[in-house]
Amino acid sequence: MKKIVSILMCLLALKSFSQDTDQKFIIITTDGLRWHEVFKGMDSMIAIDPRFNQDDSLELFKKYWSSNLSQRKALLMPFFWSTIQSQGQLYGNRNLGSKADNANPYWFSYPGYCELLTAQADTSINSNDFPPNPYENVLEHFNKKSNYKNRVAAFGSWNAFDRILNEKRSGFPVINAFDDNQIALDQPDMKLIHQMIINGFRPFGNSEILDVFTHYQAFTYLKTQKPKAFYISYGDTDEWAHHGEYKFYLEAIHQFDAWIKEIWEYVQSDPFYKDRTTLLITTDHGRGDLKKENWTSHGQSIPDAHETWFAFIGPNVKPLGEMKDTQQVYQKQLVPTLIKLVGESFKPAHTVAEPIVLPLKYNSSH
Ligand SMILES: [Zn+2]
Repeated sequence: MKKIVSILMCLLALKSFSQDTDQKFIIITTDGLRWHEVFKGMDSMIAIDPRFNQDDSLELFKKYWSSNLSQRKALLMPFFWSTIQSQGQLYGNRNLGSKADNANPYWFSYPGYCELLTAQADTSINSNDFPPNPYENVLEHFNKKSNYKNRVAAFGSWNAFDRILNEKRSGFPVINAFDDNQIALDQPDMKLIHQMIINGFRPFGNSEILDVFTHYQAFTYLKTQKPKAFYISYGDTDEWAHHGEYKFYLEAIHQFDAWIKEIWEYVQSDPFYKDRTTLLITTDHGRGDLKKENWTSHGQSIPDAHETWFAFIGPNVKPLGEMKDTQQVYQKQLVPTLIKLVGESFKPAHTVAEPIVLPLKYNSSH
């Protein structure tokens, strides 16, 4: 009997050990999505403005408007306001006292992604044309760990990620924009997606592709290569906002929400990922709202463009939904918080920010 008990205890120990060391994470960003739409749904003042509604306000109101706040936000982002609300945590609703901000003083993309992915705000990173990032990012760090090595990859719509993630030095695949994508071209789906990227319409020129291609490349890679540390970066939200096309911006948000649903449902249906995968979902910067027409823009000249948002969902995330009256959170703290949630460490040569004090879920397996 004693022997059986000790064997059982050994098995139990092994079980919780595998859960502790076999955690995966996916960081997902959508460029320049405002917290206002995340927490309040469609903005009726922008939607009725003929400068922005693309002559289709009727359709916009039909699809995304309700005078009831909780119905309205769920019309725009149904997955956020069902599954993430009931199983995860959502930060950044300033109306409820939850403030999330850039710590960097620039409020545009390269400094924002650098702050997020290297967990610090260095003021020398001050341009979208900045050369390859001198700082080690979290994916690069994980690719050096024996239990994550060669199970790390990043997909992005914008070609600047080759520099932001310092592809040459980092040593993991960074597939962006019109990149060759040699790492997975043996997958028939990947070949077709790549042909469509090369031969399709280029609304954002030669540095950025439509998110539909980024998503299906990343999703195919996720299902076939099973990365353990993964990054997907979407960009349509920022592009359509800069164009002042509020209808396309809203459609991009709605589609982003649907893709997160697709990813999460796949993760939770696959034995390799199920209950061992944490998602961090966020953005690189905010955009204006104090002056309504500034919703199209961001950067230092827009006084409220430092306001951001983020969400967590995963096995160690306590299901508290929309957070109220939280501490002030900075973008540089998000990755340290994520890494704490997966029970790992992120200790590059530079100093990283402290994780936020997150209400942790009691995990019954240990
Ligand atoms: Zn932008």
